[in-house]
Amino acid sequence: MSKNYERLNTTSNMTQVPPSCGGEPAETYVGMAHFAGGTPGKFCRQCRFHGMSKGKNMSRVGDVRAFPCAKAKQMGCKTPMKVPANAHACKYFEPK
Ligand code: SF4
Repeated sequence: MSKNYERLNTTSNMTQVPPSCGGEPAETYVGMAHFAGGTPGKFCRQCRFHGMSKGKNMSRVGDVRAFPCAKAKQMGCKTPMKVPANAHACKYFEPK
């Protein structure tokens, strides 16, 4: 059975993000548009891009399921992986 999501692989050279980016690499999941934590206090489940597909949003506020991030797809990710609902939001967060 394949995994729905996985954490970003970090290396010893990638442990910190410049303050201008915000966020935390170790908390980031593959498939996110940018590093987790870029919008403090928010989660992907609260973002309008979480679960958006063809103009419709498949997730609702408070939904606990994992969905692909539409922002990552807009930015060129060909096959975005699902991002957990409780992932810390990135800097591209937009409320639903
Ligand atoms: S906060 Fe929004 S744009 Fe950023 S990774 Fe999560 S769903 Fe995607």
